[in-house]
Amino acid sequence: MERTLAIIKPDAVAARHVGAVVERIESAGFEIRAMRLVRLSQADAEGFYAVHRERPFFGSLTAFMSSGPAVVLALEAPDAIRRWRTLMGATDPAKAEPGTIRRDFGASIEHNATHGSDAAETAAFELAYFFAGVTLAGA
Ligand code: GDP
Repeated sequence: MERTLAIIKPDAVAARHVGAVVERIESAGFEIRAMRLVRLSQADAEGFYAVHRERPFFGSLTAFMSSGPAVVLALEAPDAIRRWRTLMGATDPAKAEPGTIRRDFGASIEHNATHGSDAAETAAFELAYFFAGVTLAGA
């Protein structure tokens, strides 16, 4: 079993796509171990995306991520990190496979509906960022 952090980003929450995204998560067989609506501050978003601080889009990305409520989820499944990224699709919705979440709900390379951890170490950091001290539900 593996765990990953998923985020339904502020664009998708504002567009009322939370239910549709959660439906895809459940249909794909992930167990939802924790789920919470959060409103990130600019500083929260900067801490979460610290690995990207040198990228030219860092200011824009962190402003976007703190622009409205987001939903954070701890997902569990065999191979969860890779499988959730496959379900999301490529970073740029225009390049994402048909039927993926980002293709269907993303508007731009930045406003791309969802986030997923990209490796075991980042998943551990990102899960702790939102769920430290929380006992994850389930068996
Ligand atoms: P991810 O792992 O697929 O989310 O992609 P990255 O780790 O490369 O980037 C993190 C997030 O930054 C993405 O999900 C986008 O929201 C945003 N992003 C990535 N590339 C760009 C870009 O070229 N321009 C802008 N404005 N945002 C980007």
